[in-house]
Amino acid sequence: MGGWFEGLRKTRERWAGALAGLFGGRKASEADWEELLDSLIMADVPVGIAERLVKEAQAGERREGGAREALRAAVVASLPDPAEGDWMAEAEGGAPKVLLLVGINGSGKTTTAAKLARLAMKSGKSPLLGAADTFRAAGSQQLRIWADRLGCDVVAGATGADAAAAAYDAAAAAAARGRSPVIVDTAGRMHTKEPLMRELQKLRGALGKRIPGAPHETWAVLDGMLGQNSLSQAKLFHEATPLTGVVVTKLDGSSKAGFLLGIKEALGGVPIRYAGLGEGEEDLRVFDREAFAAALVGEESNVGSRE
Ligand code: GDP
Repeated sequence: MGGWFEGLRKTRERWAGALAGLFGGRKASEADWEELLDSLIMADVPVGIAERLVKEAQAGERREGGAREALRAAVVASLPDPAEGDWMAEAEGGAPKVLLLVGINGSGKTTTAAKLARLAMKSGKSPLLGAADTFRAAGSQQLRIWADRLGCDVVAGATGADAAAAAYDAAAAAAARGRSPVIVDTAGRMHTKEPLMRELQKLRGALGKRIPGAPHETWAVLDGMLGQNSLSQAKLFHEATPLTGVVVTKLDGSSKAGFLLGIKEALGGVPIRYAGLGEGEEDLRVFDREAFAAALVGEESNVGSRE
């Protein structure tokens, strides 16, 4: 099970040459700074933010800790503040907490739903997985397999069924059986002619009809391999269905983790909740911006192994 340092290896390698030049003890040249800027952009840090980071690192050269510490601190400051509140806790009045996962197909929603259910179980909760991905037969089947493996309740809509009705059934089952949190996996595409975003609004409405205030959390699952393309998707989802969090998957295979530095500009204060650092059920970490930043500038500190 890899941690942040290993998980961000590929992105860090993009920066490594530039950082070695900078932090090698000698005074950085103009070419060093340019190389740093290029490598940040190569790691998919949005250009304006990359330029700001280089400026901060330059200013830091004269301070204690030098350019590396300044860069690390600038990376931390570019990321949204950590989330407040416990998403697993029951909703007001003891109703099940409902978490909706949205994102495009293949982004890692089903895997993330299973990983989150496992975390909830480890915390002593009795989660219920809801499969509202009725577009693909494989969608709900995959979630059932995960649920069996974890020993977790699952309510899956039939293939071709109305996704909003499937979500409603999951919420109703959770309320009847006293299960919470309810983690609802959705399709990245719908079988109806309705645009995806309108379908998601309908699905939210159905959840709220059964459990007032639901969904309490709506998280976009973003594919870390796609870099900044994931940012534009996240913006579209955020416009259609207000996000309360982001999960970034596949950081272990991505050399473009720098796109996360654009989240704050794209989504305002929406926090990054978790990061997927592998395909296994245990490979999900609470997103720790300190650990993320330290891993990117090449410090193998052992922070961030918290699940
Ligand atoms: P969905 O279509 O959004 O439900 O996506 P899936 O959950 O089916 O995931 C798509 C693929 O990405 C699967 O092969 C997963 O095993 C893989 N995957 C998901 N999360 C991660 C991760 O954090 N790291 C890696 N390496 N693979 C992941």
